[in-house]
Amino acid sequence: MSGLYFHIPFCRKACTYCDFHFSTSARGREALLDAMEKELVLRAGELGDAPVRSIYFGGGTPSLLEPARIAAFLQLAHDLLRVRRDAEVTLEANPDDVTAERLEQWKAMGITRLSLGTQSFRNARLQWMGRAHNADQALRSIALIAGAGFASWTIDLIYGLPGMTLTEWDEQLAIALGHGMPHLSAYALTVEPRTALAHQVRLGRVVPAGDEAAAAQFDHLMARMKAAGLLHYEISNFGRPGHFGLHNSSYWEGAPYLGIGPAAHSFSGNTRRWNVASNARYTTAVEKGEPFSGSETLTAAQRTNEMLLTGLRTHRGVQLDALPVDIRPDNEQRIVHYVSQGLAQLDGGRLVLTERGRHFADRIAMELFAEP
Ligand code: SF4
Repeated sequence: MSGLYFHIPFCRKACTYCDFHFSTSARGREALLDAMEKELVLRAGELGDAPVRSIYFGGGTPSLLEPARIAAFLQLAHDLLRVRRDAEVTLEANPDDVTAERLEQWKAMGITRLSLGTQSFRNARLQWMGRAHNADQALRSIALIAGAGFASWTIDLIYGLPGMTLTEWDEQLAIALGHGMPHLSAYALTVEPRTALAHQVRLGRVVPAGDEAAAAQFDHLMARMKAAGLLHYEISNFGRPGHFGLHNSSYWEGAPYLGIGPAAHSFSGNTRRWNVASNARYTTAVEKGEPFSGSETLTAAQRTNEMLLTGLRTHRGVQLDALPVDIRPDNEQRIVHYVSQGLAQLDGGRLVLTERGRHFADRIAMELFAEP
């Protein structure tokens, strides 16, 4: 099974915290999208005969595109690849792009799942983040999506905002749950280097939330979702049964995927490839038939460490005896310690983090890393 990802690198506005690759200028947009179609033609063979079980339009803001462009990408994927009839096809959409007409168009072309970049239901927060939408648009778009008949949909929310209280966070979750949300991705705000937010922090204009506040909000998130019947299947993701995101699950399971577009990553099972993160350089290189990506073949230790980092974030954990490098001899005492401290459970050789352990998932994974 494999996945296909399209990176649509255009946004209406630059959100202050964002470090994804995108441009707020539409210059060269059509040429870039043409180049992406060409890239798919060039590289479709990399997936071999593997059936494609998920297609994901991410970015950037894919919902900015004319529906005909998205439909053309989908048609090309069906022409070139073995896309399963029941494939999950996700489109990331921002609330300011969602209308009843657009929803119908997306559904008609084969989008099965919408991922809505909500982030907050408070206008002051949305303005502070530099989002292009307001709280009314967030609420209206959710109501439209909930009634539109997609197989699934999900919303993104951000916690760990400066000054956020548990009351505010609970209010956000209550609003989302009140709309019958089947899936939630909730992210703690991080201050990434080279973002406008990092600049404001450096100037002392923004004081990031403390770790304790973010941890309390994470605990509240887990409790609130559990009570509402959403399973915590990955650190940042909660879903009702039947609504877990297939595409991202493929990343965590190490399945192969093909990434199309500037800054898109691909994985073949042991080789990672990344496209140049520049719209202009990408377009020109694809047009001229020049190289536009870098790659590395992972060693057994690197694959082991990636499996630890991604697997320990999931509710399935990591099957220790299936790792490319056996890390057990070097980590026997550590693993006993995690279990005795209530941070992890060991079940048939599978190491799974508890709710408490999920606070420290990255640290635990790194402590268990295989030597390079
Ligand atoms: S809309 Fe998404 S990709 Fe675009 S700037 Fe905002 S967070 Fe980044």
